[in-house]
Amino acid sequence: MIVMKFGGTSVGNLEKMKHAARIVLKEYINGNSPLVVVSAMEKETDRLVSLVDTLTKENCPERDLIISTGETVSTGLFALTLNKIAKEEFSKQIQALALTSLQAGIEGSGPAGEGNIDSINDTKLHALINEGIIPVLPGFQCLKSTQLITLGRGGSDTSAVVIGALLNAKRVYIYTDVDGVYNVDPRVHSDAIKYDRLEIEELIKLTESGAKVVHPKAAMFAKDRNVPLTIKSTFFPENAGTEILASGVIQ
Ligand code: ADP
Ligand code: ASP
Ligand code: MG
Repeated sequence: MIVMKFGGTSVGNLEKMKHAARIVLKEYINGNSPLVVVSAMEKETDRLVSLVDTLTKENCPERDLIISTGETVSTGLFALTLNKIAKEEFSKQIQALALTSLQAGIEGSGPAGEGNIDSINDTKLHALINEGIIPVLPGFQCLKSTQLITLGRGGSDTSAVVIGALLNAKRVYIYTDVDGVYNVDPRVHSDAIKYDRLEIEELIKLTESGAKVVHPKAAMFAKDRNVPLTIKSTFFPENAGTEILASGVIQ
């Protein structure tokens, strides 16, 4: 199985979701069993944070409950989009299933707003995948006992990498709004150079110096657990992207 994570801009509206769904369905038809992790729709988390901020600046349980809903909405919309596009464009009865953190058993620890995923219901998810179902899971959140907590802004990348490790995925694909990892932000520097391949240590350095394309925690976890990682564009999926390699591989 493979994990395919789509960020906020990639699921920013229903048209963009259709685009992302086609990428997932092509992988499915090619025989790779995808599990999808989604972010909230573009700007949705900002909107939810502002709403909470008008009432309290505190890090209370309600804050995490409210700001995590963007991802939950995305799972439902994305699963419905997958089913619709499969039928209309691929003439296939493919079943996608949106799951909440509770249903997928995404459990974790740590303070609210800075949680870490520790485990997942792998038996259930593997069973769904073996039945040919495409699970669609929310990024950015986990259950700490009975309380929903979030992982920190940009945390859906970490969700994808950790879930990939826990389910023994062949590869984790981070789909985003640029072609891959560049030496500098390609939206700021028109002469930015894209890496086709990049060692994990170099990715960690870039993310720690603020390259938002992958969350630093996700990069660190990918290194610690040897998770094969590729960063690709949702809008130009035919472009090569950046393949992340183990340290010491590139001469
Ligand atoms: P997503 O919504 O998919 O999680 P993000 O906005 O978090 O996407 O990250 C993608 C953005 O990261 C790009 O639009 C780009 O502007 C920015 N970025 C910053 N530094 C880099 C870099 N070195 N390489 C690629 N993108 C970068
Ligand atoms: N939706 C969350 C955020 O905007 C998490 C993510 O997209 O990675 O921070
Ligand atoms: Mg991001």
